Amino acid sequence: MHRGLYRTTLSNAIYTLSNGVVRVVSWQLLMLASIFSRILFIGCLIAALTACAEQSAKDTSRSVDQQAAKEAEPTPSFTELVPTVTDTPIPTPAEPSPTEAPAAASPIDYAAVRPYEVGQIMIIMYHGLVETEAEEETYQRSAANFQNDLQTFYDRGFRLISMKDWIENNITTPAGYTPLILTFDDGKASSFSLENADGELRPVKDCVVDIMTQFSIEHPDFGNTAMFFINQNPFKGEGTLAERLNYLLDHGYELGNHTMSHKQMSKMNADEIQAEIGGIDRMIKEAVPEYEPYALSYPFGERPLKDLRGYVLNGVWEGNEYHYKIAVREGQSGPPSAVNREGFDPINVPRVRGSNNQETDMGWTLKQYETSPELRYVSDGNPDRIAVPAEYADNVDMESLNGKELFIYEAKGDQVIDAGQA
Ligand SMILES: [Zn+2]
Repeated sequence: MHRGLYRTTLSNAIYTLSNGVVRVVSWQLLMLASIFSRILFIGCLIAALTACAEQSAKDTSRSVDQQAAKEAEPTPSFTELVPTVTDTPIPTPAEPSPTEAPAAASPIDYAAVRPYEVGQIMIIMYHGLVETEAEEETYQRSAANFQNDLQTFYDRGFRLISMKDWIENNITTPAGYTPLILTFDDGKASSFSLENADGELRPVKDCVVDIMTQFSIEHPDFGNTAMFFINQNPFKGEGTLAERLNYLLDHGYELGNHTMSHKQMSKMNADEIQAEIGGIDRMIKEAVPEYEPYALSYPFGERPLKDLRGYVLNGVWEGNEYHYKIAVREGQSGPPSAVNREGFDPINVPRVRGSNNQETDMGWTLKQYETSPELRYVSDGNPDRIAVPAEYADNVDMESLNGKELFIYEAKGDQVIDAGQA
């Protein structure tokens, strides 16, 4: 374009000069010079236009992204297409190198949120629900109190996640909130039963699934998911086994293995362990073939003998293989409840009892979080980045990061410093 402008200026100068000359020469010469200057002018004009066309071709050869961006804009007029001298080349965005982690979806104020992604995550162990508070005991919660529990969790900044997302460390909990997992053992009717309403199957009133569904309608950001650990003949009411299990999966819940006959695994041999786990594994897979069970709950919280624990994760029963990733028991939420924290043991995962009257249970733990909120896992809202305050950097299990970005930070007042990788 600079070349084009120069040629246009040159042609104008020549034209002016030739006009000056003609005043002092004869009419014929004037005519001749005039014709010559016009030819020269046209020549220069052609040259200028060629230069413009060349520049335009260069523009066309710019990156596809820029071209696509241009196409999204309204078609420019001719004058807009003529570049000006102030034009600077559009920088081509650098391709991110494969080792670079993708940028956070939405940057957060680390000093305000103070994410702590090796903190405690509560896994609550419920069983069934009872109608009145008088019937409550350690393993039974009244429907009204269960409803209150949901409200308490919600008000105190807990948000539900699936056990699968937790075990895969895919925590999408919004920034500033604490993930929470609910589990229900024994496949009880009060946890889930279907009834037939005008030809359609729906959960009976005041079972766990009904209460959770209602709560999530009023509090959609709370989440609506839970793990149901089942034995043979789970749940009651209408519908076949396949219909019941499909209903749960279709509505965002998960299914886990609580063994066939709910006996103490500490007293079993290898064959018995594999039969107990393999039986439920096959029952689930036959009812919902697309679902792959991955979680086990030990009946009575009793694990198999030490040298038989390998059968918890992998085994064969009647020619069918099973493969599990985690196994849960009863017990106090410990520090290693984030799967990327040092000390996390996938076949010895503690769950707090869903009750409110004993040491180490849910009520006790919630009280502890009131006085010591620093124990809680606090999400940064980005599942691909593990954000940990510098003072807890040593607690991160580097082996479990699986390509996720580790962000160790130091927060002083409202200042945040990237403290680098531990
Ligand atoms: Zn049980």
